[in-house]
Amino acid sequence: MRDAGEDIGLIGPGAAPLEAGVFGARAAWLSEAAALGLPVPPAVVLTGAALEAAAEGGLAELLAPIEAATARAFGAADAPLLLAVRPGVTGAGAVTPAVLNLGIGPHTLPALTARLGARAAADLRRRFVQGYGCAVLGIESDAFEFALHDALKAVGAESEAELDCAALEALAERCLGLIADTGAQVPDDPAEQLAETLRAVRAAWTNPRAAMRLRLRGVPMEAGQSVILQAMALGIGPGLSGAGRAQRRCDTTGARQDIGRYLPSAEGEEAMMGLRTPAVLTAAERMERGLHEPALEETAPAVHAELTALTDRLEAGLGESFALGFTLEDGRLVLTELAPVKRSARAALRIAVELAEDGAIRPEDALARVDPSLLNDHLHPTLDPGTRADVLARGLPASPGAASGPLAFSPDAAEASAAAGQPAILALIETGPEDIRGMHAAAGVLTVRGGMTSHAALVARGLGRPAVVGARSLALEPRAERLTAPDGRIFGPGDTVTVDGTEGRVIAGAVEARPPEITGAFARLMDWADDRRRLEVRANADTEADAANARRFNAGGIGLCRTEHMFFQHGRIAAMREMILAETEEARRAALARLHPMQRADFTALFREMAGLPVVIRLLDPPLHEFLPHGEAEMAEIAALLGLAPERVKQRALELAEFNPMLGRRGCRIGIAFPEIYEMQVRAIFEAAVEAGADTGSPVRPEIMIPLISAVRELEVIRARIDAIAAEMAESGRPVDHTVGVMIETPRACLRAGDIAARADFLSFGTNDLTQMLYGLSRDDAGRFMPDYVSQGVFAHDPFHQIDEEGVGEIIRIAIARAREVKPGISIGLCGEHGGDPASVDFCERAGFDYVSCSPFRLPVARLAAAQAHLRRQA
Ligand code: PEP
Ligand code: MG
Repeated sequence: MRDAGEDIGLIGPGAAPLEAGVFGARAAWLSEAAALGLPVPPAVVLTGAALEAAAEGGLAELLAPIEAATARAFGAADAPLLLAVRPGVTGAGAVTPAVLNLGIGPHTLPALTARLGARAAADLRRRFVQGYGCAVLGIESDAFEFALHDALKAVGAESEAELDCAALEALAERCLGLIADTGAQVPDDPAEQLAETLRAVRAAWTNPRAAMRLRLRGVPMEAGQSVILQAMALGIGPGLSGAGRAQRRCDTTGARQDIGRYLPSAEGEEAMMGLRTPAVLTAAERMERGLHEPALEETAPAVHAELTALTDRLEAGLGESFALGFTLEDGRLVLTELAPVKRSARAALRIAVELAEDGAIRPEDALARVDPSLLNDHLHPTLDPGTRADVLARGLPASPGAASGPLAFSPDAAEASAAAGQPAILALIETGPEDIRGMHAAAGVLTVRGGMTSHAALVARGLGRPAVVGARSLALEPRAERLTAPDGRIFGPGDTVTVDGTEGRVIAGAVEARPPEITGAFARLMDWADDRRRLEVRANADTEADAANARRFNAGGIGLCRTEHMFFQHGRIAAMREMILAETEEARRAALARLHPMQRADFTALFREMAGLPVVIRLLDPPLHEFLPHGEAEMAEIAALLGLAPERVKQRALELAEFNPMLGRRGCRIGIAFPEIYEMQVRAIFEAAVEAGADTGSPVRPEIMIPLISAVRELEVIRARIDAIAAEMAESGRPVDHTVGVMIETPRACLRAGDIAARADFLSFGTNDLTQMLYGLSRDDAGRFMPDYVSQGVFAHDPFHQIDEEGVGEIIRIAIARAREVKPGISIGLCGEHGGDPASVDFCERAGFDYVSCSPFRLPVARLAAAQAHLRRQA
């Protein structure tokens, strides 16, 4: 049971700050501002429980602290106190509007008239009547607006500011009449006004429609409702009186900027409601916008300076940047409302970093405030959230960023478009190895099939190309070069479209995007993250260009080089096909001899780029069918190259085809079946290490990784061959220090991790395949139904995107424990796509990984996530 006192909070000088979880965020911020000594009206805050208790009586005592602080009394004929009743929570959680000027009645009006003048008192009264009518009695505001409109028309006035005392009094009577027409009334007695207002607040909290609305907004009902009874600051009255809103930061960029509006003779949100034209705060903004109305800075420079100082003190004192509601009561500035400034992802980062630079928060707090997944906004061109977009279809947000360009329906067309200076949007059913060069040339990629770990998604992320995959509602006819939208619109080659890979949208036409921004606050945040993480973060990088990006984003090395990607480039795929189609070892060796210098050159470039950092190179892994020629034309081309009849090539391709290639001759099984392939790769790696080491002066110690191991014997056989080649190198006077590691991607490898660790120098979890195998779920086909699974809540997340801690996570933990039991210091990494997902990185921190590896453009996300995970564990 809570103490009744715990359900009533006080805001005012000397009162302790209130807890947001109990009293609501708005009440908590206001209480903290008051505790800083800022001019916040004294207030009492009631939780739901306190409100229930107050309904039984005792409201008068509750107001005693406010009365003491203001030297006014609620309902008194002499020096009456007026109240503002506001929801204690902010934004989506608030179910009732504020009721202002509560406490005006026949008994208190004379004193108000004496203090403020007859016109101001009449204005306050008619505002109270309208506000009470809407918020407490539930009357549509339209009725009152029509009444005001009639009153203005009657005297030919433009705004209520021109209405005299008599007109305002008549308007109040008219509004009372409208209320009486509904059978309701506004009580004369302030105590009754308050009791009725609080009753309406309670009714709103328990109203099933309100509960439903909250649920739809994602706010749990039990999140706690509260109500603030605040001494009313009067923006209507003599001297400089009015109300406005102000903030010191731009919502879009986070830059320091004096933004706001001020309206004389106004209350609450009026300055933002557009009924009258408000003044801006600064002369600079007035001039920029070509406005005539003088700015607050010009009409009341002292007030403006005080307001600026106030917003700065709030930032420094509360460690947050606020949008605030202020009232000027006869020249006195009062802070009535407070909520953190709304902000875009970019603004959030800049504000957090600048607050830490100013000493308002610690760098650790700044790190915790930035959502790692929103860093993508900084790394790629992005669309402004408010930009109007003609969305044709939605798919999976496979690779972030936005790109516009003419449609191209083949890699060749994409290359031609790039050559003509107009990088295209490459639209394909799905992509395969032979499409990589087209993806390279394209500005963005669109596929109608595939999931988050499909070939297209993986390669696009690696290249940093925006991509939407699995946009199933689009009909794509590659031969006809036609893309048909669900609404029937048809797009052909050269028609401009935009892919928004951050949101997964395909948009008609070009949309302007904001350029990436990786210096300034972003760079600072990354430095702080790097100083505070335990996990090393490496990159999945296959080419020299990838490695350059890895360096740019401060990778700790390369955690996975997928060597097969090196063969997808022009001029190489033919040699690769020749090797695969070879019918004898001799023919295969001849093709490999042609590939050898290419591989050596690739590895040399990679080692040079990464000088001084670890590089893990994985031996050939993919199912060989991925390299086989598909169409007639490709068959004929390769047949001509090999001097064979096209029929023979077709026959050979059929012989090599597998029923289930993902579970067939791939990974280390290739190395066992065709030792000469791995042999060539290993030689190329060692020779490149020698060459790059000599060039850079920094010795290279390659980490060779064997994929898809499921039994320790596979490792033993392949390792023996690798070590033999190393011995040959040493004998020939070119020794290379190397390590041999294993990709743990099969459930059996997890269970046998102890044996495997005994013979391996490092382990790296390939969580793409491990997820596929543990679930029995094809990574290439999951995209077809995973959105249904997630939207129906069957799975909370796509397990190919965020690691499934319960299942995949458990077997990983078992594997790690077994490996470390045998070899406590063995290095353990993760190089599946999960390495760039914040929740999965958090798992890696907790599970004791040494590093994660992800595509270069996801490095900042992983670095920040790693820092957050480590800080969370230390907390
Ligand atoms: C994996 O399976 O997690 C992995 C990194 O390898 P690939 O995606 O190349 O199969
Ligand atoms: Mg794999």
